[in-house]
Formats: sequence, C-alpha cells, structure tokens
Amino acid sequence: MLDTYRHKGMRKKLVESIKQKGITNENILNAINKIPRHLFLDSSFLEYAYDDKPFPIGSGQTISQPYTVAFQSQLLDVQKGNKVLEIGSGSGYQACVLEELGAKVFSIERQKKLYLKTKTFIAELGYKARFFYGDGNKGVPAFAPYDRILITAAAPEISNELLKQLKPGGKLIVPLGKGDVQTMIRITKTADNKLIEEKFGSFRFVPMLRNKADD
Ligand code: SAH
Repeated sequence: MLDTYRHKGMRKKLVESIKQKGITNENILNAINKIPRHLFLDSSFLEYAYDDKPFPIGSGQTISQPYTVAFQSQLLDVQKGNKVLEIGSGSGYQACVLEELGAKVFSIERQKKLYLKTKTFIAELGYKARFFYGDGNKGVPAFAPYDRILITAAAPEISNELLKQLKPGGKLIVPLGKGDVQTMIRITKTADNKLIEEKFGSFRFVPMLRNKADD
C-alpha cells in the first residue's frame, strides 16, 4: 500500500480546495491531508482520487465527495473521546476521518461484500473503528448510547430506534429527503430529551436501504 510524495502533494491541493469551499475546522483539514484516499478506490481511479468528487466503490455504492465528508464532519462537531455511530460505512473513509478527530467509531453497512472488504482494509490501515453488518435504521444498540450519529445515505425519515440511541446533549446529522436531492439536517437532543432541528442546504446521497434482505 503505497503513499508517495506525489499523492501527498495531490492531497494538499485537495485540502486547499475544500478550504476555499468554506471548511474551516483545522482538525478536519488535517485528517483529509493525512488519509491516503487513493487507497480507498479501485486502482483504475487512482488518477482521480484527489479530485473533490464522489466515486463508485462497488455494490452500486459511492465514496462521498471529500467536501461532503468534511461538511458533515464539521456539523457533527466531534469532541475527543466521543462515541460516534456512522450509518453507511461504504469505503470506510469517513470512519477514518472521524477516528482522526478523536472519536471512538462504530459503523454499520447494509451491503455484505462492502462490509467485509472495508472491515479488513481499515484494520490493515491501522484504524480501530469497529464495523457492523446490518440495517442502520436499527442502529447498533449493543454499544448505545452515542454522543454523535452520522448518517451518510439519503434517509426518507429518521427511525425512532436511532433517535433513542442518541445521548442527551448528542447530535445527529442526516441528509433527509425522499427524492434525488436531500436537505442536510442536524438534530440536537437537549438534556431534557427535546429534539432541535437545523437545516444546512441541499446534497445528493445514494438512498438508505430499507427492508433489504440479508446477502
Ligand atoms: N460513508 C461512506 C460513503 C457512504 S455511501 C464512505 O466514507 O465511503 C452510503 C452507504 O450506505 C453505502 O455503502 C450503502 O450501502 C450504505 N447503506 C445504504 N442503506 C443502508 C442501511 N439501511 N444501513 C446501513 N448502511 C446502508
């Protein structure tokens, strides 16, 4: 697994372009500067790995655009030591960004092939994030509650099971919507269990699967 000066140079440029698009959190920019994104893509995409674009990763899924990863991470407002649940592991790239921010990461994926590939690869890279196979709508109750929950697929609604797994004082980020375009929403659970909702613009994510049979 090779990370060369050329790749490092390309990453620096990527970080600059994300900065220009409005990401100010230094810890997030440092994480993107550090993580070798080209290793998360099939080799045929090597030349494009540091464009600020999403890419196919198999099983009909995509690795999110770096700007979107940074934007969601910024809204999530991760604090060192936070327990974070990610819905939609995909390539594992976002999970690594969260870990670089000091989170204890739990991540669930609905596609078995992707789950198996990602779990092995991320461990090889030296990250400790824990991966689960299953339906993210149900969360991962065994390790709940979480300080933060990040949904990285388009959700038509947020399940009560997930909301239950969020700590009081916790935050949940979700691209919410039924169609091609979703609204980025942040839900904050107050100390007395009230939910506050804020909106942060439009995005396009692959849909969150519901009632999919196990592979
Ligand atoms: N966070 C990923 C990109 C996610 S793309 C990364 O950093 O690469 C969205 C992912 O959500 C896909 O891998 C898709 O298979 C997964 N997904 C879709 N529905 C799901 C569900 N119900 N539960 C868990 N994962 C789901």
